[in-house]
Amino acid sequence: MNEILVLGAGVVGMATAYALARKGFKVTVVDAASGPAEAGASFGNGAQLSYFYTDAMASPSLVANLPKYMLGLDPAFRVRISLSPSFIAWGMRFLANSTQHAFERNTIDILKLALESRSAISEFSGKMEFDYTRTGKLTLYSNNEGLEKARELTSLKNQFGAHQAVLTRDQALEREPALEGYGHEFAGAVWSPFDEAGDSRLFCRNLQELLERDYGVIFRFDSRICRLLTRANAMVGVTTEIDQIECTCAVICLGAWTATIAKTAGLRLPIWPVQGYSLTIPALASAPTASITDTARKTVFCRIGDKLRIAGLADIGDAQGGFREERFRALLQTAKGIFPRAGIYEGNVNAWTGLRPVTPDSRPIVGKTKIKGLFLNCGHGSLGWTLSMATANRLAESLAP
Ligand SMILES: Cc1cc2nc3c(=O)[nH]c(=O)nc-3n(C[C@H](O)[C@H](O)[C@H](O)COP(=O)(O)OP(=O)(O)OC[C@H]3O[C@@H](n4cnc5c(N)ncnc54)[C@H](O)[C@@H]3O)c2cc1C
Repeated sequence: MNEILVLGAGVVGMATAYALARKGFKVTVVDAASGPAEAGASFGNGAQLSYFYTDAMASPSLVANLPKYMLGLDPAFRVRISLSPSFIAWGMRFLANSTQHAFERNTIDILKLALESRSAISEFSGKMEFDYTRTGKLTLYSNNEGLEKARELTSLKNQFGAHQAVLTRDQALEREPALEGYGHEFAGAVWSPFDEAGDSRLFCRNLQELLERDYGVIFRFDSRICRLLTRANAMVGVTTEIDQIECTCAVICLGAWTATIAKTAGLRLPIWPVQGYSLTIPALASAPTASITDTARKTVFCRIGDKLRIAGLADIGDAQGGFREERFRALLQTAKGIFPRAGIYEGNVNAWTGLRPVTPDSRPIVGKTKIKGLFLNCGHGSLGWTLSMATANRLAESLAP
């Protein structure tokens, strides 16, 4: 049986381990943290399984707003230019992907991946618990101009398999009565009836149990990888802080840390960390049942069991991953302004920050590298939970004998 190392136990690494184990590979997963989805973006993300809202990050509207983001005038989005050559190279490619044509092409490519994930993730609903709900999602637009642009994109996405509908304000209120408590004006919404939600951390924890029990997958936690070892352009192992693990086959699924580790084998990958924050609070009865994305404030609301997960903010350029109190406060204030009575904002607030591993075109990087035996499944950006099963299956398909 072929042996393979999966580097990283975030949701992408765990999905990869599952897809490979099902193909008959003998899988070992290595991660620096003490358990799956403990230390990366899969711990506290927005929880949305956003199969139809797949808009790429690089877009004409982002470029139009760039001066505002660079001057710190938008609480949700910050861009600080870093002089590092890898940031400049990434930024140039990001800008090249910001034309309308590239934005639409990238959004459709991600949609196709998301649709592949949908059936694969729903298969787990009978197998294990991860606060999975089929709630649908409302994406709110504050003005008619934004709604009209969304209408055009919606009709394009629907040609490729999405099932989105544009709703007037009244139709949105009928669909989600909790919008009565929405703290701002909105012109209308896009309704994605088949979007879902679930806790990716819980998914990873329960998937670990299933992988150990049913497939004999081995987990090596508390093992920080320092470098990849190659000989004659082929994988021979990895060194960790404590030892060396031999292998002829490995997949890098290290989220925002992928580029750093790939560099130790001479690979340059265009993945930049974009920092975000979330808070989890007890939900009140007046919380929305459907997932909500507030496009004007770039904030998402999603129920996870009896809790409400609120996520947002995108800090590009100088994201080091450290928790910044003032940025978290900005999200908290924004959330309270949007749905003041949706949850208990005082006392029980669970604060978190994480790094989205973003590529210039927002598309994950999946497949082989120039090094024999070394593969990639990384760069899932803002949609790694949603896309995890699709990219894992694609990778496993390409590796299967
Ligand atoms: C605020 C926010 C909201 C989001 N909301 C959503 C959402 O609603 N829906 C959605 O689909 N996606 C969302 N995302 C994106 C999603 O969370 C990520 O794309 C996804 O979690 C990436 O998964 P990953 O496994 O690639 O990386 P991670 O989850 O970051 O996992 C990387 C793993 O690598 C390990 N690691 C790192 N370095 C080393 C090393 N040297 N040695 C060993 N192990 C190492 C870490 O411990 C970690 O376990 C959001 C992200 C953020 C930040």
